[in-house]
This record gives sequence, C-alpha cells and structure tokens, in this order.
Amino acid sequence: MKKVVKFGGSSLASASQIKKAKKILYDDKSRKYCIASASGKRDNDDIKITDLLINLHQNINDENKSKEIYNKIKDRYISIVDELNISYDVEKDLQFIFDKAKTETLDFVASRGEYITSKILSLYCNEPFLDMQNVIIFNENKKINYDLTYANIKNEIEKIEKVNADAKIIIPGFYGSKENGDIITFSRGGSDITGSLVARALNADLYENWTDVSGVLFADPRIVENPKVVEYISYTELRELSYMGANVLHEEAVYPVSKVGIPINILNTNAPEDKGTMIVSNIPSIIKRSSVTGIAGKKGFTSINIQKALMNEEIGYLAKLLNIFDKENISVEHCPTGIDTVSLIVRTDFLNDKKEIIINAIKENLSPDILNVEDNITIIAVVGEGIKYSNIVTKNIFDILADKNIPIRMIDQGSSGINIMIGVDDSNYEKTLVALSELQNS
Ligand code: ASP
Repeated sequence: MKKVVKFGGSSLASASQIKKAKKILYDDKSRKYCIASASGKRDNDDIKITDLLINLHQNINDENKSKEIYNKIKDRYISIVDELNISYDVEKDLQFIFDKAKTETLDFVASRGEYITSKILSLYCNEPFLDMQNVIIFNENKKINYDLTYANIKNEIEKIEKVNADAKIIIPGFYGSKENGDIITFSRGGSDITGSLVARALNADLYENWTDVSGVLFADPRIVENPKVVEYISYTELRELSYMGANVLHEEAVYPVSKVGIPINILNTNAPEDKGTMIVSNIPSIIKRSSVTGIAGKKGFTSINIQKALMNEEIGYLAKLLNIFDKENISVEHCPTGIDTVSLIVRTDFLNDKKEIIINAIKENLSPDILNVEDNITIIAVVGEGIKYSNIVTKNIFDILADKNIPIRMIDQGSSGINIMIGVDDSNYEKTLVALSELQNS
C-alpha cells in the first residue's frame, strides 16, 4: 500500500499543527510521500504566508512597507523553528528571498512559502526533501507537461528510495518550473495539484488530502447549519459542486488521479479519527447513499429569454444564437430550451458592457417575437448520481420550494442527468439553500 498525503496550509500553520501533521505521517507506514503547503492561517484574522509573500513582491520598492511585511514572515517562521527546536538557519533563506525579490518574478517569491515550510517539516521529521523545481515541468504557455512531469517525479523518488527505502519524502506543493528552471506556480490552492501529480506518477493506492474540515459537506456551512459530511462522492459529482462554488479541492487536481481511478480521501488534521470523504470514480455498490449528494449555488446570473413561433422548424436557429455569444467571447452557462423558446444563462459580470451589442445582434439576426432579459438570478445545483434513478428528487425539490413560497425562475437538468439546476432570485439564495438542505435526508 502506497499513500500520498498532502497537508494544507492550516495543517502546517504553526509548530503545534506541524506536530499533529508529523504524528499523522508516522501513524501509518504506508504514508510515504508528503506534500506540504505554505503555512496558512492560524485563525480567521491571520494572514497566509503565501499572501504575505505576494504582498512583499508587490511592495518591494517601498522600503518601509516591504521591511514590515518581511518582518512578519520572518517572525512567523522563526517562532515555528524555535518551537520545533530544529537546527535551521531560516533567517538566512528568508534574507536570500528578500534580496532576490526585487529582481525575481512573483511566481518565484510566492513559491517560497511551500519551499520553507517543507524544509522545516523535512528537518523536523528528519526525512529527505525533494524540490519540485525541474521536476514538475511547465511548457512555455504555463501548461503542465504531464508526461515529462510523471517521469521526473518517478525518477527522483526512485533515486531517493534506492539509498533509503523507508524514507518519507517531503515535497513542496504549489510550484514547478519551466525546463530552463524558472519557477512557475499553479493558481491559488495549487498544492492539491502537486499531490495529485505525485499520486499519479507513483500509481499510489490513495491520495490523502489533509485539511481543517472533516470532508466534503452537503452544503455551505456558512449558510446551512450543520450540514452532514458526505462519505462518498464521485469525481463527476465533485466537479459539478466545485463548479458551483463548493470549495473543497483545486479543480485541476481531479484530472491526474481520476483518469486512473486513484481515490482521494479528504481528512481533518484536527480530528484525524474522522473518516472524512472518499472521492472515487465509481461509488462501490455496497455504499448506501442518499439520491442527492450535495447542493451548491452561485449568485449573479442573467437570463436572456427568447420566444419565436416555429423556432423548432428553423434549422440552425440555436447555432446562430450561440454564435453571437461566441463572437463576443461570452460563455453560456446553461441553455434550457422549449419548442419555441430558449433561454441563455450567462454570468452577469461577463455580460455587462456587451449587453447592448448582444441584444441588438439577436434582434437583427434572429427576429424573435419576444425577447427579454432578467438579471439577479441565483443558480442552485442539486447534485447526485442517484437523481438519474430517482423520480422523487424533482418532486421533493418542487414541494420544498412551494412550501417555502420561493418562486422558481429557471429549471434545467444537466445532460449528465446527475444535476438539477434551479434558478431563483438572488435575494432568495440563502433561503433556498437552507430549504433544499432537507434533501440530505432523502
Ligand atoms: N500556498 C498556496 C496558496 O495559499 C498554495 C496552497 O496552499 O495550495 O494558495
């Protein structure tokens, strides 16, 4: 059994968190490859090291400000090193970063949080450190070169294991480099991707992703009180929920592992005995789940509604319509259709200054009988593989919304059959989410 583990920023935010992470790492022999994020927030008012580093780079030409930010980073790391009682001249490494910050790229400076936190973890655990510079490789257009990256990871790890078969290898998340060695970071939260690449390169049995929540929740806990933890979720379900704003895992982290069916277990560093959530390709048939796996929503959509008699007989009508949006580079999120009607749901902030142009183009090219535009729409996705096989979910949704007197402005069932999208007024977002959370018991 080979496990890749990744600790997020809050799991490595302080010396006491790092101690917990070490215990988790050694509690299981098969936890062999450990990806570390930069130290994150210790509490809600704290600032992540990555944010401080970005801020440092942005203010590097302001002597006072940059010194002030630098001191915050330095104090934080010195206190961790002191409390862990390791022998590491962290000030020397930080001074080097500070001196380089004037001439180096933002990616280089931002990546140093992962670099330093991983070094601390590796010294504290007395385990080898494997840098990802020249291992995770980005092309010129900043896209990962997957094949080269997998081969490099495998190679470097084999080299270490040849001399130390029992090593637990500590790997900084969030960055790699171009082939010339220039550091490139992923987008924010990208240490998840590093974990996924390592798991895939080594063909791991499991990718454990340690965070500060006990797994994926049925709904946003800031709105719904005590949503239940989802025990099993498929990659497809997760993708639908993440897209609608559920913030669990970096979107790009799914691709490398889902392709070969390596499961991801979301776990809580502060409650390691909790089972967390298993993210898998196919839900094992013995697992009993509710038809609905989760709900998530996003505010700020606009619906452009078109009606035209005999629209269904006019070949190419929809293509012409979509072409107008394509030309203006606006992505259409949903497109529910009727026989003579079609609605195009788009993000209001993408549409903003192009609204006039689009409306005029539709009028000119497609001569609709009726054309109207509705703003301030929230889309809520009800997601679950079970929806495909249940004829009661839709009924339950409508019963709940009718009962709570919430007007529905749009309904769309995704073609995958595993999600139902409900459009409501932005002002009804929270109320709808709370009402629909009843579905967790269905
Ligand atoms: N430290 C980076 C961030 O804050 C990457 C990560 O934590 O995954 O976004």
